[in-house]
Amino acid sequence: MRNGSVVFVLVLLISSVAAAQGSHKQSRPSSASVRLPGAAFTSMQKIDPERIRAHVRFLSHDLLEGRGTGQRGGDIAAEYIATQFALYGLRPVGDDGTYWQKVPMVGVTPQPETTFSLAGARGDARNLTPLDDYVAYDQTQQPQSEVEAEIVYVGYGIEAPEYKWDDYKGTDVRGKVLLMLVNEPPSDDVAFFKGKALTYYGRWTYKYEEAARKGAVGAILIHQTEMASYPWEVVRNSNSGEKAYLKLDGSPKLKVASWIQFGVAKQMAASGGMDIDKMMADAHSRDFHPVTLPVKLKAHMVSKIRPFESNNVLAMLPGSDPKLKSEAVLYTAHYDHLGIRPDMPGDNIYNGANDNATGCGILLELARVYSEAVQRPRRSIVFASVTAEEQGLLGSEYLGKHPPVPAGKITLDLNYDDVPPLGSPEEVEVSGAERTTFYPEIEAMAKTFRLTIRPDSRPEAGHYYRSDHFSLARVGIPSFSINEGTKYKGHDAAWGIQQAEEYTSKHYHQPSDEYHPSMDFTGDAAMARFGFALGWEAASQTKLVGWQKGDEFEAARVKSFAGAD
Ligand SMILES: [Zn+2]
Repeated sequence: MRNGSVVFVLVLLISSVAAAQGSHKQSRPSSASVRLPGAAFTSMQKIDPERIRAHVRFLSHDLLEGRGTGQRGGDIAAEYIATQFALYGLRPVGDDGTYWQKVPMVGVTPQPETTFSLAGARGDARNLTPLDDYVAYDQTQQPQSEVEAEIVYVGYGIEAPEYKWDDYKGTDVRGKVLLMLVNEPPSDDVAFFKGKALTYYGRWTYKYEEAARKGAVGAILIHQTEMASYPWEVVRNSNSGEKAYLKLDGSPKLKVASWIQFGVAKQMAASGGMDIDKMMADAHSRDFHPVTLPVKLKAHMVSKIRPFESNNVLAMLPGSDPKLKSEAVLYTAHYDHLGIRPDMPGDNIYNGANDNATGCGILLELARVYSEAVQRPRRSIVFASVTAEEQGLLGSEYLGKHPPVPAGKITLDLNYDDVPPLGSPEEVEVSGAERTTFYPEIEAMAKTFRLTIRPDSRPEAGHYYRSDHFSLARVGIPSFSINEGTKYKGHDAAWGIQQAEEYTSKHYHQPSDEYHPSMDFTGDAAMARFGFALGWEAASQTKLVGWQKGDEFEAARVKSFAGAD
């Protein structure tokens, strides 16, 4: 079966490369060429679904205890991956000539002694109940912080010069607590906050970062189910217990990073003689100005602080071109998952077979075939298996801030996360790829592989900002994840959708995301081959990949070029 699929791809590629050349003669200047050199093609053929299976089986074994960040099982997974890199003869590019890049982190757990109250001008105060009324974390990683500050309503809390939008209007918000809405001004115009699609400005992480950059001591996000696209329970569940952060690195942080229930916001506004519905409507206008509420936040933040560390695992295949080898293509896949919960009855190991032993298996198989290639690509290839994705993309964030090759010299990042072992895909998802200058090549390559590019089905949910490639995009590197769509060979589209829904509802982030011998890794191998071909192509091109003009990451790319010289 394995040989059969190789022959299939071979025939496919030859016939479609011929077709592409044929169409080129008919002068279609926009169609990109995707001819892989013979050596690359031979290497790509060696990608073996059964090897991916072996990695997934091991990495999701109960003995690895769910590969928790900072837990023993996570460290064993990192050792396993580093060992494979060593066996392939790849160069270590972590700390001090090792494969490991230490990622220092801090766990913050709000303590019951914390108090959080809204105080009116007449001295009346309302104590809020944690988890029911509000959730809050102290990002400054201090065991205790005091906040007593005026609350300023800043609408969406967005400053986006490219859309001529500024909610702050130069208002000095230093030392204040900012009350704001999640999401972004509603629009159907693609030239304005990308229409229905969510930009990073709409994400709650951006809101906190912008508030901190402006010198605020706190931010309160108003939760409303329709605007957030998820109910309060989601906010509550993902904001209880310990939250991990990268160790402080000098970037500004908030003493209070919080959400409140819509009802609480409504009452707070009313107590100041204001109407929350009108306030929300006002925020839709470009002419919005910040409004100081006659209410103060008085918070006594008490947190348990737990420093810990974990490692990214980094290896490199040096490029063959004396000049271009200082530049690189990056492949990423997170190895961490949710670990083990010893006090939970029954199966308490979060094996994370799909999420993300599959991506690691693909990354390792890519590393193997690249390292065995008789001819190396011109640019270097960096393989990074990152930690703490499940903690909020922390390993990749650290990698983006401390890349082994300067960000301005990394032409492309291809990420793999949760690639289902369901058989042979007829679609590929590369959401975000259309924003890069590499897209014509990607389209041509997809054609060659007979894969239909499946568009992001819910751009308003902002999935692009929720996986590791985003950490690399933030520092300017053109990045996206490669995954299967929902149409598989021998099945109709409904079957694929049903598989995806079943996985999401029954197994995603559950102990039942486990390895089964019946899993079919053909699709994982197909995604690996597709990524191999794209990576080789990007490693060989004369120019570095960039973002499309006007893209939200274009400025970061320009900045990264300045830093790379
Ligand atoms: Zn994942």
